[in-house]
Order: sequence, then structure tokens, then C-alpha cells
Amino acid sequence: MESRRFGKGGPEVPVIGQGTWKMERDAPADAVAALRRGLELGLTHVDTAEMYGMGEVEELLAKALEGQRDRVFLVSKVLPQNGSYAGTVKSCESSLRRLGTDRLDCYLLHWPGPHPFGETLRAFEQLQKEGKIRSYGVSNFSAEELEDAVSLAGPGKIACNQVPYQLRDRDIEGAVVARCQALGVAVVGYSPFAGGDFPSPTSAGGKVLRSIAKEHGVTPYAVALRFLLREPGTFTIPKASSARHVEENAAAGDLKLSAEELKKIDAAFSR
Ligand code: NAP
Repeated sequence: MESRRFGKGGPEVPVIGQGTWKMERDAPADAVAALRRGLELGLTHVDTAEMYGMGEVEELLAKALEGQRDRVFLVSKVLPQNGSYAGTVKSCESSLRRLGTDRLDCYLLHWPGPHPFGETLRAFEQLQKEGKIRSYGVSNFSAEELEDAVSLAGPGKIACNQVPYQLRDRDIEGAVVARCQALGVAVVGYSPFAGGDFPSPTSAGGKVLRSIAKEHGVTPYAVALRFLLREPGTFTIPKASSARHVEENAAAGDLKLSAEELKKIDAAFSR
């Protein structure tokens, strides 16, 4: 499983992680088994949020993390309405309790909200000082919002910007990726399969993915993940609640696509 440095001076993190949004709707035993299979295969970047199932997903995740915590790069998020200084500290402590851990590897503001970012930042700094979070970042920030956040926090402090990135939504390839790279901020692409609305095998784009997948003995899903990882400093966090899906996604971890193949996908899903 390929890994990359997570932001400026961060740890090496696998390029493919595991999302958990809406996992409270899955059969709990299957979800836990899928997450654990993912950890076995090196998908140790695990993404969650206090919002997911209103805390239920973090509790479910605690079961998957039993005995595995030290191997995992664990990320959670504070809801924007809780992003005041006191609100952020309280939300983080609640997440830690539900997750059954004493620290997060990265803690994100879920999207820009009503509280001045400086307030959230002050709480992030305090939580980091106390060892409750190892690093912090943002999510759904535009290039300009990220620029402002980095100006406030100082260089190298914002570890990542988690943003939507899938074959039919490539907006971040404009300013966001370039700004993140220039500022040493990891780009974590979410909803890589559009939440399950993946290009159908009979569509023009789906056929391109299928033929490339066949050449490499992987699924079109793995091909899509690898395409979304072609820029330095990028990561992806597909969600899967079956061990088979996790295994298929993990196959993208060491998949190499040729320049020609990348070009074909680029043309089939042009921005
Ligand atoms: P996604 O990863 O784009 O798609 C998940 C769907 O794809 C599920 O229905 C899953 O099915 C299916 N799937 C996964 N692997 C598959 C495979 N190999 N073959 C066929 N189907 C497969 O969806 P997402 O949950 O929206 O995004 C991923 C993660 O990003 C989230 O879980 C969350 O952690 C994060 N996220 C963050 C934000 C944010 O605002 N920061 C927003 C959205 C998402 P099964 O479950 O049945 O396996």
C-alpha cells in the first residue's frame, strides 16, 4: 500500500483510507468486519465525524479499533455549529469518549461555519497542547478560505483539506489542489464513488474504466481510485461496508496506471 506524507512534516499515511459516513445504516457486524479487513490490508487512515449517525458511527468504530488503535491514523470532525472555542473542546472530548481513545491523529472543522475560524483554531491549538489531537485540518474549504486559514494558523499547521473528489466532480483540480500543494496541505478527496452513484458499466466512461480494469485484473472502482490519486499530496477515503468491497478498493494501493491510461480516463470524464 503506497503511503505519502500527510501535509508538511506529517506522518506517512496510506493513500487509500476508509470512510464511515452513513455506516450506522449498515449491519454493524459487517461494517466492523469490513473496517477490520481494511486495517489488515493497510487502509489505516480512518475517517469519521461527530455528525455521522450523531455519534453512533464513532461508537461503532470503537469496536473496529479494539487492539488496533496504534496502527490507525484516526480522523474526526467538529460540526461548524460547535466550532466555538468551548464547543470544539467539548466536541473533541465527546468524540474521544465515543471512539474509546485518548487522541485523534487529525481533527477537522467539517465545513466553514458561523464561528470565526480563529476561535476553532485556538481550541485546536489547546487540544494539541494537551495531546488530545496530534494535528488539525479543515474540510470543504475553498482555495481562498484555505489561504485565510493558513495565514491565521501559520505555515505548516493545517495538515489537510478534505474535499469532494470523484470522476464526475473534478472541481478541486482548479485552484484547490494547487493551493494545497503550494501550502503543504494534504488533499483528502471524499466520496470517490459519488456515494455509490458510480458510472454504470454500459456508459461511455464506465466502458473505459472496465477495459483498463480488465488489463490490470482489478475492478473499475480501483481504477477510479488510482486516477484520483495521480497528483502528489493527495489521498482518498472510500467507504465500504463489505469486506469484498474493501479488498477491491485496497487493490488500488499499488496499482500503476500508464500515462496513456490516465489520459483515456481524463478524456472520458473531462472536467
Ligand atoms: P463513497 O466512498 O463515494 O461511496 C460509498 C458507496 O460505494 C457505498 O455504497 C459502498 O457500498 C460503495 N462501494 C465501495 N466500494 C465499492 C466497490 N469496490 N464496489 C462497488 N461498490 C463499492 O461515499 P461516501 O461515504 O460519500 O464518501 C466516502 C467518505 O468520505 C465518507 O464515508 C466520509 O468518511 C467522507 N466524507 C466526508 C465529507 C465531508 O464533508 N468532509 C462528505 C462526504 C463524505 P457498501 O457500503 O455496500 O460497501
